[in-house]
This record gives sequence, structure tokens and C-alpha cells, in this order.
Amino acid sequence: MRKNILIALFVFGMIFSLQAQAPQQQQMKLEDVQKALNLVDKPQPVPEKYKAGFDAITANDSLAMLTYIASDSMEGRETGTHGYAMAAEYAASLLKMWGVKPAGDMPSFGGGRGGARGGAPAANPPARTYFQEFGLKTVTDVQTSVTIEVNKSGAQKSRTFQGGVDFTAGMGGAGSETITAPVVFVGYGLTEPTIQWDELKGLNLKGKIVLVLTEAPGRDDPKSPFNSKKEIKDKYFPAAPTGDQMMVAMRGGGPQRFNKIAELQKLGPAAIIQVANNGTDAAIFRQLSNPRRVNDERPVVNKPRVRMSVAGDTQTPMGQGGGTTLTITREMANLLLESTGKTINDLKKQIETTTKPASVPLDAHMTIATTAKTALVRGINVLGIVEGSDPTLKNEYFVVGGHYDHLGKWEDYIYNGADDNGSGSVGVLNIAEAIAANPVKPKRSIIFGLWCGEEEGLLGSRYYVQNPTFPIDKTVGYLNFDMISRPYDETTIARARTRYNVPGAEELVKKIRTPWFVTLSWTEGTTLADISREMNKYVGLDLALQGNALGVGSGGSDHASFASVKKPFVYYMAAMTTDYHQTSDSVEKISGELIAKISQHGYLTIFAFADK
Ligand SMILES: [Zn+2]
Repeated sequence: MRKNILIALFVFGMIFSLQAQAPQQQQMKLEDVQKALNLVDKPQPVPEKYKAGFDAITANDSLAMLTYIASDSMEGRETGTHGYAMAAEYAASLLKMWGVKPAGDMPSFGGGRGGARGGAPAANPPARTYFQEFGLKTVTDVQTSVTIEVNKSGAQKSRTFQGGVDFTAGMGGAGSETITAPVVFVGYGLTEPTIQWDELKGLNLKGKIVLVLTEAPGRDDPKSPFNSKKEIKDKYFPAAPTGDQMMVAMRGGGPQRFNKIAELQKLGPAAIIQVANNGTDAAIFRQLSNPRRVNDERPVVNKPRVRMSVAGDTQTPMGQGGGTTLTITREMANLLLESTGKTINDLKKQIETTTKPASVPLDAHMTIATTAKTALVRGINVLGIVEGSDPTLKNEYFVVGGHYDHLGKWEDYIYNGADDNGSGSVGVLNIAEAIAANPVKPKRSIIFGLWCGEEEGLLGSRYYVQNPTFPIDKTVGYLNFDMISRPYDETTIARARTRYNVPGAEELVKKIRTPWFVTLSWTEGTTLADISREMNKYVGLDLALQGNALGVGSGGSDHASFASVKKPFVYYMAAMTTDYHQTSDSVEKISGELIAKISQHGYLTIFAFADK
């Protein structure tokens, strides 16, 4: 997520009001807290079976690897750059050194990397490489203009507006494109059967441009049907996130959210045009004219936005070219509505007072012209494998992964990404070394994956689950590391304590040791949580376990790709700090001990799970 703070807050504020609703987190019960918290301050000696691998993981090695991976020479490991490719070569050489086998592509003759190069086909089938390579499309310099044509009492009128001046453009398509379509006004664009509310009834939005108000009608009117029930109110008028809730939400984390835009996109519109439920154009222009308040403590890095998608991928909105979303002013909305003789505020008032929809196709056309520069860069996932010990079960796989990429550099600034996610990458490498060093191997095979493109939308891990180098239907689970090196402190732990501080749990919560507090999200209906608790006896972390239903992978990291193909996962994360996505996320702030302990816990957990 590379946005500057102010525009991010503005866009975020808009999107948040549109996405509506973070269901209030239910107060936990005492037994839930007792099940969630697993606090071990005196670890026991690790069983002999796992010992050699366990002892191979050290704080010193973790820090040594991270110092290289997060060094300025790696230039912030942005996907598709030289810095990332150098880091990938480094990881491949470590895996080779530890005897971890390549698990990437079969080299194609005439130029495979990390293996055979050019010349005639070899006698034996060539070995795999450590790289899974694929084409990524980048989109930069996106410029958008909009032309509105209205027909009023027979007179044809058209006006053109500029992105960044008259409106803001959202994520948009996969490059230069022009969309022309008739416009339909859908009010708030909501369908809520529980209150017999349907603003889309009888409308075919396919290929149309949809004009929609943000939020829901009657925010401050207790008589509004959207204030009639707590769950409806929480859904459409959520409390704005505070402090680190905002940070978690900006990572795509936090409770699952209803997303109005995503719901409308399912109906196949050519584009979605939103106008703020409340607010004035003056407020929008003030924001657009004064894009950024600098924080003197923080360098302003004007890194141009680069959007990326897997070349040829038709799964994602960007890949499909659709998904254009604009936020417009009331001035533009009123021009579109001219044929109705009403303004957007008139229609808003009508919907709120009559509590009835006012959706209507408009006698207006809109043309959205987007120009952009596109290019192709090389995506590289680094992949290694340690074969299982059981003649049959070795054909089943457990994947251990984390993203290797980060935000790159701009002018003199480098986003070293030591915590995000240099630390998680070191965690993956630690477990690879441990499994390779341990004489006893788990029955099933273990695949190690360092993904690219996470910062651009989980591109590398999504590519892997769609193009696995080992059968995904034989894949039994996934472990994800993302940001495992910054210990909690009194500030960051405060929220966690509040969450668990229910009547009767006071003593237990008091025992939480901030430096060793780690959240572990896991997939319910599996033995992963029991195994994690069992193995923590030998490690001594203060674990907070959070269950997810199979297929649900909230939290905005690569486990979501595996959850999307219904694979159970465990996902480790330490503290979220204010260095998140800043140039200040550097190695001197890292705890090598924390990386090592979390890696040891992950090693034992996946070993036991893959050995069942
Ligand atoms: Zn990350």
C-alpha cells in the first residue's frame, strides 16, 4: 500500500464511508480468553527428535541474514527490480548451501535461470530451478479525464473534467482505455432484504456507468430503516477506526467488511461514480488543492504510484480492465442529473424523507478516458523443497512462506523493509535450514516460498496457488510469516490487553509479557491450534490465537491466497509499529531473538502437522 498519508486519509475516509461497516468486535467470554491466550514463560527442553533443527535456528543467524536482506544494496526489494533479483539470488544460494532442493520452474531450453543455460537438451531431464518466474504488467502515469454529455430539453451539452482537479480516480484498469456508457442513478445502491430495502430492483447495471451516494440514508435520523437494528446500524454506519485499528485496516486487516463497491461491481457496470453522502465540493477542492500536510518527523517521499498485475491474468479487476471507480463532486453529479430537474441533494433528501428508493436511468452519457504507461517486469517467487520421509505421504506438501518484496527506493530514500517483511523471509529461511539440518524429516514434504508482489496485491502467492509447482490438491496447509521482528511495547499491547481483559481474566492478562506477545491466526476445524499450544511448551512465547473459518484469510497478507483455495493456515505476526511502510523500518530496530523464537515455534508446529 503505497500512498501518501494525506491522500490516503482522504481516499480512506471516502472508501471507509462507502465500505461501511466494521461489525463491533464482540466482547470475549472468559473461556474464549483462556483458549486464546497461551502464555509460556518457562519452556521445557525440546524433544530429541526435533533438537538438531531447533538448535540450528539462532538470533545471530537471523540478524546476519536480515542485515543483508534489508541493506541499502537490496534497494528496498521492489518487485521486478534489480534489488529484488539480487535478494532472490541470495536466498537461492542459502537454500542450496543447506541442501534444500530447488522447487521452482523446470528450465526451458535457451535460457532457464539458476540452472541449465542455452545449448542442446541435456541427457537427463534438467533439474528444477529455485525460481518460479512470470510476467508482471506495470501501469504508471495514469491520467484520467471525464466527459459528460447531457440532453436537456433537446439541447445536447457536454463538459470535460480532469482527474486530480475535479475528481479523484480509484484503482482503475490495466492501462489506457476509454469507456463510454449511459449513466444510471441508484441512490445509495443498497439492497438490504432484512429491512425490505432494494434500490437496484428492476435495474440492469451491466455495461452502464453507475452514479451512487456513499454510506446509507438517514445516518442521523433515528427513524431511518438503517438505524432500526443494531447490526444494520453497525453495518452501514460503523465507528471510524482509531489509532492502530486504522493501521491494521490500511493493511487490509481487521474484521471482514461489507464492501458496497465490490457488491456493485458484481453486477458488471462499466464504471462506478461515487459522490459523498455528506460534505461539500469546497471540502473536496480544499483537499485536492492542498494534497499533503508534511510531518516534519517523516521524510516526504514522492514516489510515483506503480500498479501491477500478473500479465494475462483475467481473474482480478485490474486484469479484467473493469473496476474503474471515481469520486466526483456535486457539481459533476448535478450535471449528470440535469435531465431529472433535481440536484443530488434534492434526491438524497427525497430518499431520506420518503425512505423510498429514487433510482433512475439518466438521459446522460459519460466518457472516461484513461491514459497510462505500461511495461513488463519479471516476477520471481523463490522456491525450495525438503522431501518427506514417508514413501507415500512425501507426495503431500506443507508450504512455509512469506513475502520477500517491499516498497523499493525513490531518489535518496530506501524502504529497507527490515520488519516488513525481511523478518518473515528470514523466518522462512530459518525453518528451511532447520528442516534440512534435522536428521529426522517429517513424513510429508515441506515447500519453502518467498513471494514477490505482495505489496502490489498478493501477486506472487496468488500466482503460486494458481500455478503451483507441486499439486495444490496435495497441499495440506500453509504457514505465513509477515512482520515478526518488532516486540510489542506498553502502547501497542494496550489494545490487545483491552480485548482480553474480561471479568475473571485479569490475572491471566497481567501475565502477558509484551516482548514475547505474538498473534497467531489459524484455521478452525484443524489441529493447528492444539499443535501450536503443545509446541509452545518448548519455545516460551505468549501466543494470542485467533481462529478463522476455512477459506477466510483476513489480515492482508499471503495466507489469504492459500485461504482462497481452501487451504488451512497459521499466520504469525508480532507488533505493528509506526515504522510500518516508512523508510524508518530498518534493521537496527529489529529483535533477532523474537525472529528466532517465532521461527522455532513455526518449525515445531509445521513439523508436527506434516508428520501426523
Ligand atoms: Zn508485509
